[in-house]
Amino acid sequence: MIADRAPYASVPENSRGRRLREPPPRGRSEYQRDRDRIIHSTAFRRLEYKTQVFVNHEGDLFRTRLTHSLEVAQIGRSVARHLRLDEDLTEAITLAHDLGHTPFGHTGQDALNACMKPYGGFEHNLQSLRVVDVLEQRYGAFDGLNLTFETREGILKHCSLKNARTLGDVGERFIRRQRPGLEAQIANLADEIAYNNHDVDDGLRSGLLQMEQLSTVGIFRRHMRAALREFPKIEGRRLVHETVRRMIDTLITDLVRQSAATIREYAPASVNDVRQSPPMIRFSERIRREQTELKQFLHTNLYRHYRVSRMSSKARRIVTELFQAFLAEPGLLPPEFQERARSDTPRAIADYIAGMTDRYAIVEHRRLFAIDIS
Ligand code: MG
Repeated sequence: MIADRAPYASVPENSRGRRLREPPPRGRSEYQRDRDRIIHSTAFRRLEYKTQVFVNHEGDLFRTRLTHSLEVAQIGRSVARHLRLDEDLTEAITLAHDLGHTPFGHTGQDALNACMKPYGGFEHNLQSLRVVDVLEQRYGAFDGLNLTFETREGILKHCSLKNARTLGDVGERFIRRQRPGLEAQIANLADEIAYNNHDVDDGLRSGLLQMEQLSTVGIFRRHMRAALREFPKIEGRRLVHETVRRMIDTLITDLVRQSAATIREYAPASVNDVRQSPPMIRFSERIRREQTELKQFLHTNLYRHYRVSRMSSKARRIVTELFQAFLAEPGLLPPEFQERARSDTPRAIADYIAGMTDRYAIVEHRRLFAIDIS
C-alpha cells in the first residue's frame, strides 16, 4: 500500500502533526488513529439521531447523518483507492464531516445561524472542527480529539474569511486561497454523490417524489432505462435501487476518470503542489451539468415539498425558541454548559443546541415550553 502511494498523496509520516504532540501510534498510522478517535466520539454516535432531510423518527428506513456519513466514507475510500491516495485520511475526514451539524438538518443550521448573527454566527463546518478541537471531553491530556492537521483541514470545508483569521493553521488556506490535500477534495465530492442519490431514494420511499417526475431528470432517466434494458420486468423498489446504484457507479467512475486526467494535466509532484493548484478532484463537464439538474430538481420537488416545509417550519421554531429561552435565562442550561456560558453565553448555547439530536431538541423544547396539567 505505502509503496503504491502516489507522490501527491498525503503521507501520515509527513503529517504537519497534532496540536499537542503525542507519541506515534503503534500498529496503525496517524490517520487511522484519527479515524478511530472519531468513531469512538460521542458526537459520532449522536449522528444516528440527527436528520438528513427527514426528521429522525419519521421512519426507520430513511437516512440519518450517521448512515449518510458511512455512505460518504465508502464512496470516498473507493475514489481514494483508485487514485492511490491515503484512504484512511479520506475515511477520517468523511466520517467527521458532519459532526457539527445541528438537529433538523439545514433548517436547524440556518435557524441557529440566524440566532447567532449578532454573536459571530454559526457555521456547521466550523462547528465540526470545534467538536474535534474543543467540545469532545474524553482524554486526560487535552480537550477535543487532538487530530492531525490534515484531518482538521479536511473537516473545515468552508469558512468565512473573518473566521479563517482566528483559526491559525487550518485557516491559512482560505486566506492564501489554497486548496487542501486531494483526500479532503474527495471527501467534498463524495458527500455530494451520497446525498444526491440517497435523497432520490428516500424521496421515492417517502412518496414525496414519484418515478414519473424523476424521469424528467436526465441522469435518472438514462440509468432507469439501462436498468430496464437489463431487467425488463422489474418495478417498484427494485427498479429504484437498480437505477440509483447505476447512478452512483457512473458518478464514482466519472470522478475517478476526470480527476486522474486533471492530475495528469497539472502533474503535482507533492501535496504542496496540490495546495497551490486549482481543485483537481472533479467531475467531467457532462456529469457536472447532470448533477446540477438533479440538484435543482431535488430543491424544487423535495426540499421545498410542503410536507418537508412543515417539518422545517417546526424545526426552525424549536431551535429559535430554545435559543431565546436560554439567552434570557442562562440558568436553565445544564451545569456543564452554564460553566461554559460564563465566558461566552451565546456560544455556549449554540454548542448545547448544536449537540442535540432531533428528538432531544423536541423533548427539551417541550420541557421548557409545555405546561402539563395532569
Ligand atoms: Mg454531508
